[in-house]
Amino acid sequence: MFVDKAKILIKAGNGGDGAVAFHREKYVAAGGPDGGDGGRGGNIVFLVDDSLSTLSDFKHKRKYKAQNGENGRGSRCNGKKAPDLVIKVPRGTVIREAVSGVIMVDMSSDEPFIAAKGGKGGWGNSHFATSTRQTPKFAKSGAPGEEWEVTLELKLIADVGLLGFPNVGKSSFLSVVSEAKPIIGNYHFTTVTPVLGVVTMGPENSFVMADIPGLIEGAADGDGLGHEFLRHVERCRMLVHIVDVAGSEGRDPIDDFEKINGELVKFNPELAKCPQIVAGNKIDLADDGQLERFREYIEGKGYEYYEICAPIKHNTKQLINAVAKKLASLPPVKKYEAQEIPLEVIQQKKNDGFKVIVEDGVYIVEAQWLNKILLKTDPDDYESLQYFQNVLQTSGIIDELIKQGIHEGDTVSIYDLEFDYIP
Ligand code: GDP
Ligand code: MG
Repeated sequence: MFVDKAKILIKAGNGGDGAVAFHREKYVAAGGPDGGDGGRGGNIVFLVDDSLSTLSDFKHKRKYKAQNGENGRGSRCNGKKAPDLVIKVPRGTVIREAVSGVIMVDMSSDEPFIAAKGGKGGWGNSHFATSTRQTPKFAKSGAPGEEWEVTLELKLIADVGLLGFPNVGKSSFLSVVSEAKPIIGNYHFTTVTPVLGVVTMGPENSFVMADIPGLIEGAADGDGLGHEFLRHVERCRMLVHIVDVAGSEGRDPIDDFEKINGELVKFNPELAKCPQIVAGNKIDLADDGQLERFREYIEGKGYEYYEICAPIKHNTKQLINAVAKKLASLPPVKKYEAQEIPLEVIQQKKNDGFKVIVEDGVYIVEAQWLNKILLKTDPDDYESLQYFQNVLQTSGIIDELIKQGIHEGDTVSIYDLEFDYIP
């Protein structure tokens, strides 16, 4: 089976804990604090691999976890940072945060993408020495690594999408104009996975054409195959709509043409607006009356139209030239813009609870979900800070601080953030 959708869990590594240690040396009585810092946890990184063409790797393995950073040690030895976990995906994979459906990245370039950041290592106690606190007996634990549930969706990158009912000759056409070798057969759904073919026009001029399984009526409503595959032509710059002009399977070509366009509108009205060139195939089986009727109908609607016989390459070159010419006037392949993950989604994770520890008069708050909000908080932005305050209030953290006896001016420490408590 062709796998072009998957849902996985990604978890970056936690930062290593800072160490509590004191300098020891012969003849030196009480050394100063020298606990080293923890190392950073490994990131989860996505990378395009062109040897992959499906998401089948993700069907069986659904959890991806990067290693944690190493803990710090005495003598100011910092823990080692953990290596990133690189997940390879086929080009064109769109990654979304699963709860909100927000696009995190469109993996269509070679740029690696950090989808989950490893937690920073906690500071060792050597950082916490002040004139009034010369022997801090605490260090910080490492920050948790980011964790997301994400969906992966493959949306092939092709300039041109081939459209049409099963058996009209789409694969035949692709096979005679490109190097691709799709399976051609006289039964429906010989094409069960999209096939990409490179059409070479000249040394510096080529484009990619996608053959997808034929659509059938009702496809966009989920009847049978077809609509599943429309997502693979969603990025296309234009479509070539192939019709069996001879009606060799007993259907009416005009009907075919309208039905497929109806499916497009239902699936995605934007896609339906994509420029189309129409090709009447199987002209060897059609009589003059059939040819004329269809030609008049299509040209009457203002479409550019070609009569072809794919297996013997009749007129296929002319059609390809017309496609290349049209492409030259069209914008590049669509890239999906990344969006911000809403803070509400992040905040939902607050049900995971929190922990307040008091060490040497410092109130240390630990909560994995809170770190995620913190990473998104801009300390220089008033609204952002207000939001953060509000989160502390509504999650019950402030109440807990008060319960544990916090006073005005005491230090609150939340991962990287340290501030004085003001009631
Ligand atoms: P697809 O399902 O749209 O990809 O169609 P295929 O390319 O697999 O073709 C379906 C069948 O129609 C195959 O048996 C082809 O050999 C045949 N076919 C394709 N084009 C033509 C044509 O122009 N004339 C005739 N007579 N048969 C064709
Ligand atoms: Mg086919």
